[in-house]
Amino acid sequence: MDFLRPVTWAEALELKAEHPVARPIAGGTDLMVELNFDKSRPTALLDLTRVDELTGWEHAGDLIRIGAGVPYARVIGELGDLLPGLAIASRTVGSPQIRNRGTIGGNLGSASPAGDAHPPLLASDAEVEVESVRGVRVLPIDEFFLRPKVSALAPDELIRAVRVERAGGPQQFAKIGTRNAMVIAVCSFALALHPAARRVGTGIGSAAPTPVRARAADEFLSGALDWAGGGPVAEEVSRRFGELVAGAASPIDDVRGTTGYRRHALAVMARRTLAWTWHDYREGGAVCA
Ligand SMILES: Cc1cc2nc3c(=O)[nH]c(=O)nc-3n(C[C@H](O)[C@H](O)[C@H](O)COP(=O)(O)OP(=O)(O)OC[C@H]3O[C@@H](n4cnc5c(N)ncnc54)[C@H](O)[C@@H]3O)c2cc1C
Repeated sequence: MDFLRPVTWAEALELKAEHPVARPIAGGTDLMVELNFDKSRPTALLDLTRVDELTGWEHAGDLIRIGAGVPYARVIGELGDLLPGLAIASRTVGSPQIRNRGTIGGNLGSASPAGDAHPPLLASDAEVEVESVRGVRVLPIDEFFLRPKVSALAPDELIRAVRVERAGGPQQFAKIGTRNAMVIAVCSFALALHPAARRVGTGIGSAAPTPVRARAADEFLSGALDWAGGGPVAEEVSRRFGELVAGAASPIDDVRGTTGYRRHALAVMARRTLAWTWHDYREGGAVCA
């Protein structure tokens, strides 16, 4: 197996163009498991850990650009105020070791329906910046996921960064697992309030072939909330929102949970995250990390 070690982004793109079959490796927390269990045997690995351009985040105005190589530990430590939903989700990932090594770019690269970064990025309308020697493409995140563990990346492309607007209102993330840590989500849900646009965003994890939005739920809730007066959410609004979120999922029965349980849990998480975020909105807090 060849081990390719670029030190600049330009070199990484050139190596990927020359060796399209080379598998990029960042934290290795997904890829090494795959190799150790002999699920794949790539002829080459493209080590991205020495590429400095991937390891930082920056913001221009309200737009935050997170390099693909930024690990969860840094999202938690540095982005909790700007992107609370993503920070809350990052805290639920694996263990401290996994949060130190595992990256946002690697989560996207694996394109698992259960990736915990995905629901908050969906709820915040993030975009994925991908690049090859042919140029840059910026994909809305819901166009990035194609099928279970398959993304829209071309063979010669790498993920450069994820672009997302800083939170303009409260955000939340909830995850059901069989225990509190080191667990793949049975299902998960993210909610972001966007008060300036009087709109909400949602993201569902582990309950469909890809991470998905609950679009009908977004539309319903955006129109039902009392944005101007901050009045309480009526019980029937909360219930209907939960039903619409559950209805947007297309879960399967597997070792982690049944279809029925996943739909039920999604409705509960939708109602709970709505209660938490609306409480913070009424209290006047922009964020709730
Ligand atoms: C014990 C354990 C617990 C875990 N718990 C969780 C959890 O709770 N929640 C969760 O979501 N995940 C969890 N994971 C999975 C994993 O940690 C995450 O998916 C993590 O984000 C992967 O990032 P990485 O940098 O380690 O990726 P890697 O393993 O290096 O790569 C993952 C995939 O992305 C590709 N890739 C990496 N970087 C790029 C790039 N820049 N461009 C294109 N492709 C790229 C790789 O080729 C590979 O296919 C866990 C893993 C382990 C081993």
